Amino acid sequence: MNNIFINTPSKNNKLIDNFGRKIDYLRISVTDRCNFRCTYCMPEKMKFLPKKDLLTFDEMDYLCSLFISRGITKIRLSGGEPLVRKGLIDFISNLSRFISSGDLKEITLTTNGSLLDKMSKQLYDSGVRRINVSLDTLMKDKFYQITRRDDLENVIKGLMTAKDNGLKIKINTVMIKNKNLDEINNIIEWAHNNNFDISLIETMPMGLTDQDRIDQYISLAEVEEEIKKKYSLKETNYKTAGPSFYKKTNKTKNLIGFITPLSNNFCANCNRIRLTSTGKLFMCLGQNDSIDFRSIIRTGNIMQLHSSIDKAMKIKPKAHDFNISKRNQRPTVSRHMSVTGG
Ligand code: SAM
Ligand code: SF4
Repeated sequence: MNNIFINTPSKNNKLIDNFGRKIDYLRISVTDRCNFRCTYCMPEKMKFLPKKDLLTFDEMDYLCSLFISRGITKIRLSGGEPLVRKGLIDFISNLSRFISSGDLKEITLTTNGSLLDKMSKQLYDSGVRRINVSLDTLMKDKFYQITRRDDLENVIKGLMTAKDNGLKIKINTVMIKNKNLDEINNIIEWAHNNNFDISLIETMPMGLTDQDRIDQYISLAEVEEEIKKKYSLKETNYKTAGPSFYKKTNKTKNLIGFITPLSNNFCANCNRIRLTSTGKLFMCLGQNDSIDFRSIIRTGNIMQLHSSIDKAMKIKPKAHDFNISKRNQRPTVSRHMSVTGG
């Protein structure tokens, strides 16, 4: 199955959904497993998907080539923790042939940073140039409270190794009520001093964790007020196809992204689809509809694969409807973020 570039129908048959949005970004959760247990992401006793249900990397590669043949130009690998899945580096190296051919602009990765000290050189050599690293605090005790793992020093070491190995880094910081608001200006300053951009993210209600979302959620409007106690913020024209809008402070030089799925819905510009480690394609992070590509890929029916992609474009919803408004509210999306990869 390896090394097949599927070119019927061709890239002229680009992915446009029912709302006229061009879809050119594929995010893949290569595994839902993780070596951390962030309190907003999963419970301590997490039930993971059975390993026997996972797509092989050959199958993932095949699906990537299918999606690239339909106009996907950017792939982000996520999880769970993508770096814990064995064989990942070979998968990326192989996929990089599409960067060499010009069909893919980039392969990026979102990671918790715990394995970067060991793996960042291999990542760079395999073709990755930019990574997002999740880090919600610079304080050892809070890091343990948030991730339930005592690994801050190792993550910081990994970040520095990754930087030395030439990877461009953006920090992802989930803002958690009563937890990291008081240090947000330190985190921004630290990130910018290291030449890292940073994106701040609102907690999304995905899956049950051990905590009530209402005790975790804080709007980024409130976070901006805290930042403004130290810096003045100005809008920038910088825009990616992603959900962030970017601002700069008057004193630091890098960007601050604001990702506000709850307080300021950004779905009108959505350009992405998401593939899970078991081959389900989700058209929206915040909705439940999916198409099972694993069963189709195993029948080898290429026309059915293409017609399923066409169907995906027809049913991609207009918007998510995340909502955290009262105590004991069950999430409308029962799967955890780790299944669809953030
Ligand atoms: N393990 C990797 C990591 O933490 O970067 C990749 C997977 S993780 C699911 C991807 C991103 O989703 C991380 O930045 C994480 O902080 C964020 N995330 C996880 N659960 C979330 C939630 N319920 N709401 C908002 N962001 C969440
Ligand atoms: Fe693991 Fe990332 Fe979820 Fe934290 S946010 S538990 S690191 S998948």
